[in-house]
Amino acid sequence: MSYTCSSCDAQFQNAAGVTQHVPLHHNTCSECDERFDETDALRDHIHKNH
Ligand SMILES: [Zn+2]
Ligand SMILES: [Zn+2]
Repeated sequence: MSYTCSSCDAQFQNAAGVTQHVPLHHNTCSECDERFDETDALRDHIHKNH
């Protein structure tokens, strides 16, 4: 059995893999797919660039 990310098509052999992967989506800009380390940085990016 494999675990699939609910936000993209990435698959993992164990739950730990997907658990570490999913947060990567949380700070990703939905407009341009740019990623940020902090939610505040993403919010600032969206405010200035979109
Ligand atoms: Zn994913
Ligand atoms: Zn963006």
